Amino acid sequence: MPIHPAIVQVALHTPSHSGVGDLLSYASERPLAPGTLVRVPLGTREVLGVVWDSDEATGELPDGATLRAIAGVLEGVAPLDVPWRRLVAFAARYYQRALGEVALAALPPQLRDLRPEQLARRLRRPVAAAGESQNAILNIALTPEQESARARISSENGPFLLFGSTGSGKTEVYLRCVQEVLEADPASDFPTQALVMVPEINLTPQLEERFVSRFAPRFGPGAVVSLHSGMTNPQRLKSWLAAHSGTARIVLGTRMAVFASLPGLKLIVVDEEHDPSYKQQEGARYSARDLAIWRGREQGAKVLLGSATPSLESWYASRPPTPEYPEGGRYVRLHMPSRIGAGALARVRRVDMNQQPRRTVFSAPLLQAITERVARGEQSMILLNRRGYAPVLHCVDCGWKSDCPHCSAHQVFHKTDRTLRCHHCGYTVRVPFHCPTCGSPDIHPMGRGTEQLEEQLSALLSEVLRPDRTPARIARIDADTTKAKGALEAQLAQVHSGEVDVLVGTQMIAKGHDFRRITLVAAVQPDGALFSSDFRAAERLFALLMQAAGRAGRDAAYMAAQAVHGTQPEMWVQSFHPKHAVFEALRTHDYEAFAAQQLKEREEAAMPPFAYQALVRSDARTQDVAQGFLTAATAAAHAAGLPGLEVVTLYPPVPLTIQRVANVERAQMLMESSSRAALQRFLAAWQPVLQTTRSQPEHKGLIRWLVDVDPLAI
Ligand code: ADP
Ligand code: ZN
Ligand code: ZN
Repeated sequence: MPIHPAIVQVALHTPSHSGVGDLLSYASERPLAPGTLVRVPLGTREVLGVVWDSDEATGELPDGATLRAIAGVLEGVAPLDVPWRRLVAFAARYYQRALGEVALAALPPQLRDLRPEQLARRLRRPVAAAGESQNAILNIALTPEQESARARISSENGPFLLFGSTGSGKTEVYLRCVQEVLEADPASDFPTQALVMVPEINLTPQLEERFVSRFAPRFGPGAVVSLHSGMTNPQRLKSWLAAHSGTARIVLGTRMAVFASLPGLKLIVVDEEHDPSYKQQEGARYSARDLAIWRGREQGAKVLLGSATPSLESWYASRPPTPEYPEGGRYVRLHMPSRIGAGALARVRRVDMNQQPRRTVFSAPLLQAITERVARGEQSMILLNRRGYAPVLHCVDCGWKSDCPHCSAHQVFHKTDRTLRCHHCGYTVRVPFHCPTCGSPDIHPMGRGTEQLEEQLSALLSEVLRPDRTPARIARIDADTTKAKGALEAQLAQVHSGEVDVLVGTQMIAKGHDFRRITLVAAVQPDGALFSSDFRAAERLFALLMQAAGRAGRDAAYMAAQAVHGTQPEMWVQSFHPKHAVFEALRTHDYEAFAAQQLKEREEAAMPPFAYQALVRSDARTQDVAQGFLTAATAAAHAAGLPGLEVVTLYPPVPLTIQRVANVERAQMLMESSSRAALQRFLAAWQPVLQTTRSQPEHKGLIRWLVDVDPLAI
């Protein structure tokens, strides 16, 4: 009998909608364990693939079948383990994407590009020695609140929601929980590992410093690695391999890190768990926070979510038991209400803009407060969530506005380089000297962005001196000033060193930074979000303002020293609706009251977390085609009587708020159900119907469609 080669199933990234199934079969000289990384021919190319579980992984070739053989095995990289493969398979299923796409996207890009011999060379390079030693870790004494949280995390299973004020010492609790995991005796011969996620790349350096200084002396210089999209491909591969092989014990990263291969994983921390950036907005639209919960349960790792303003989903999931529901929520809620060092939370000061002269940007009392701080050498931070000089340019004579020709949006006026730029498609033109429609020279900016704030503030503070008798210094941090690599770090360093007196910026500066000398934070124009059509807008605004307020007065010692001047940390809000519930709750720092009020509204309206949602979006050359496709697919779903439909509501398609981007018309439809399982059943059954609908001639103009499960923006 001739020896038949083994047949292996391989997950790979096939072009989307190519009609090829999730797994392709290849012939192999020898059986290969699931999880093995291989290179295989695909069309005329050779691509990376992952050997996947299959009941017929070995067997005889069917008669006459010509299976292509795998091209090579990535020797030296251990097969990806069962928990990793299960995580990937779950994410693909839940978020309605191809298995191969999710699996390959979860691997470092360089793994895809390196030939096996290049990788082998890379693997031979010496890695930082694990270098574990008996050096004791120098721990500071925990406060009673921290200690009680730590003890419960240590003794209970979780998942945990650590609800702690800004500056309450959550990071210190993470450090201690990580330490406990690393020092625990591993059940297997694989070292124990922890994953710590933060929402933004720019928060990783500070955190990395804290983790390295704490753990490197004991566990070696290579014990802590980062994983985020700001790293070069070689760096990412290096971190990934270290985590996969167990030389790295702690992985710090952004949302993508949730897919890191961590065979010894025992703890996952999700810091600022409410942050929208945990949700991926392209490809597989996964929530790293939600996957963390799933992964922890599957892999037997504890999960710790932390926030001063938890998402309403997590807040609700951690509700305490009531007589009505004696078991309470699925999560364990832990409180840390006090700031370290008995530091006070910022006092909230609201300015009623109805009482201010028209067109006021900085009200007199706010300007006064900033001025006093500059004179005392303290720092202030001014927030405005809009970059550029003005959101639109308009003509006084004929009403012309700087609309983007390709999008249903204005082009933003950028004064520094005299351009009009569309923030949606990037289309950029020089600022015209005359109105393009009527020729009038009377064209003006309307509204304001961070560039304008910076300019006006410079003028307003031009006479104000710092304690060293030099003029006040103003800096701006937003996506425009931080494009160059390292620019953000350099600018943040200037703030930390005290070179800057007033920092103007977008929400980028409101998150997480441990600024020591900021004693005033101001939101000059936060009203926009109050009347948004997105039901989460109020929740997001409240979280942002609370977090921004938390940037003021973080250093108890500094605040004590400044107290002789009467300094108090302050959060200023200028609003035309100063009595709005969001600002009322902010004033008393009362997240719980705010959450209770929001949850009541959500429950009455049967919205998340009391219902589950998904969106299908379609892009086409015309709005008719975009909506027509969704209407037809809906009709087909009803005609086929798809499973789950009896408890899933399908809403009619509508145009997106920004209906056209780069000449593409966009429409979406919402699906809602009180049952997550039913919604999942329906989506799975609907997927092939959407495919079939798409191939019908009347939908020829359709460019793409995509599904967003648990969408964050509606
Ligand atoms: P959070 O993450 O909740 O905003 P951090 O963990 O960053 O707070 O702590 C705020 C500040 O308090 C940090 O400078 C930190 O070093 C300090 N800190 C935290 N825990 C303690 C403690 N137990 N004793 C003294 N200082 C602490
Ligand atoms: Zn005009
Ligand atoms: Zn545009």
